[in-house]
Amino acid sequence: MKTEAALLVQTGRPLVLAEIEIPALKPGQVLVEIAYSGACGTQVMEWRGDKGEDKWVPHCLGHEGTGTVLETGSAVTKVKAGDKVVLSWIKGNGIEAGGAVYEWDGKKVNAGGVTTFQRHAVVSENRLTLLPAGLPMDVAVLLGCAAPTGMGAIYNVLKVQPGDAVAVFGTGGIGLNALMAAALAGAMPVIGIDPNPTRRALAKIYGASHVIDASEADVLAEIKKIVPQGIDIAVESSGLPAVMDQAINATRQQGGRAVVIGNAKQGAMLSLNPAVFNQGKSLLGTWGGDSVPDRDYGRYGRLLASGRFPVRDLLSKPYRLANADQALQDLATGKVGRPLIDMSLR
Ligand SMILES: [Zn+2]
Repeated sequence: MKTEAALLVQTGRPLVLAEIEIPALKPGQVLVEIAYSGACGTQVMEWRGDKGEDKWVPHCLGHEGTGTVLETGSAVTKVKAGDKVVLSWIKGNGIEAGGAVYEWDGKKVNAGGVTTFQRHAVVSENRLTLLPAGLPMDVAVLLGCAAPTGMGAIYNVLKVQPGDAVAVFGTGGIGLNALMAAALAGAMPVIGIDPNPTRRALAKIYGASHVIDASEADVLAEIKKIVPQGIDIAVESSGLPAVMDQAINATRQQGGRAVVIGNAKQGAMLSLNPAVFNQGKSLLGTWGGDSVPDRDYGRYGRLLASGRFPVRDLLSKPYRLANADQALQDLATGKVGRPLIDMSLR
């Protein structure tokens, strides 16, 4: 069986829409008909080659989506044909079956344990979670990456309490999910910081009590005006070392905590005044918001489905698979918050 995929053949060049041959399923692999794919900064970085030389080209792309299970390889017990599922790069229960290898014009096409810029994908069992009840398939792509990372940073890593003063540096898809999670936890104030006016406007809709224009203001001084002693919690999702430095410096002495989520370019270095550690501040990292899909996606799904925030508007107007490049371009320029690719559009 063949399917259509938007492949990365050469970094920095347009994606190639290709007919690829789907291999026979190995134990632990699942064939999924993709309904929707999201896209995030990781794919933009892969596409541009920001992470250095790409040894895997040509390869499939995308690590967040939703779909329907068509067929399961031997030993798969978590899902069955007909199940609606969330595809996520974060590993959950089930078999780690490794990446699939497709074929295109006699050439090998690599793929990770999950890829989503394609109409059908061979996915490792442990990257699938059953679709939470009540959550539409389009909105549910947020569960593949942005929601577990952003909400998980707030609930699992930082364990935000009511009344905590929170600032989110970078209000793209992950940052907006962190803002929503902080607001739902009763954080106050909730400050969204971004140079992009579209993303600042979104921050206000998704839980920010205050926003700061990072391109104009002295961000630390502006935060001090709102919270003179410094914030309790900072979430960094820009990927810029200078912003990581700002995030830790914006926190209060004796207990302020900052978590870095942003993905920095290859070769970037973070330079920091080590006095922040003597002041009792902590700088933390996280792998996908420390989220455990089988434990957390149901509750994140309930928050997204609750109607407290207009979460469908987090996603762009749907792109066709053939326009996946445009989706990445529009994400890179900040024209859209979170691109949505709808496989039913031809
Ligand atoms: Zn992602």
